Amino acid sequence: MKVKKSFFLKSCNSVEDFPAYSYPEFAFMGRSNVGKSSLINMIAGRKDLVKVGSKPGVTKSINFFILNDNTSIADLPGFGYSKLPKELKKTFLPLIRNYINSRDNLRLAFLLIDIRRRPDAFEREIITFLSSRNIPVAIIATKCDKLSKNQKMLSGKEIAAALLIKTDAIFFSSAKTREGREEILELIGNPPMRRGE
Ligand code: GDP
Repeated sequence: MKVKKSFFLKSCNSVEDFPAYSYPEFAFMGRSNVGKSSLINMIAGRKDLVKVGSKPGVTKSINFFILNDNTSIADLPGFGYSKLPKELKKTFLPLIRNYINSRDNLRLAFLLIDIRRRPDAFEREIITFLSSRNIPVAIIATKCDKLSKNQKMLSGKEIAAALLIKTDAIFFSSAKTREGREEILELIGNPPMRRGE
């Protein structure tokens, strides 16, 4: 898919606020600072669609963007490392749950993981929850420019092993070099079907 046009639609704090359209939607999730804003900008081919690196505390809103007047991007709030597991259980998972339960148009969730880190309970809980709702999940290892090619492959293997998935199921990305852009856009253009459809 080529991105010819992109714009920010709205920021929503509750289910009633969510846009009512049926455009296929793609959710982006991950820890704070994982590079989610930069990745969405990279995918959109924009520098400033999402503001990078300036998140005042934990925000609970979900930001919606439209690509090409027919594709919806939902930017879910990031989540810090220090707040586990209380805040995860209290605020983050309920928000994701409400979001997922109310979005019949959600086609795929991208879960971002910094290539230099390893997934833990946070990522596993999200994957388990998405799977229980039949939402396909794609893992994106971000900031790949920070590692050598060998380190990157090794990290990819370890991330895959920790998530019990195949290494080739991981997308490698860099907002700096634009690595992964074409593959991610290809998937957005041809998303897997949700089971039960
Ligand atoms: P978010 O909190 O997940 O939305 O992360 P941001 O996109 O705001 O990025 C957090 C920090 O990581 C910023 O300083 C970015 O410049 C940096 N960053 C994001 N993506 C990349 C990347 O692909 N490569 C490198 N080297 N830095 C990145």
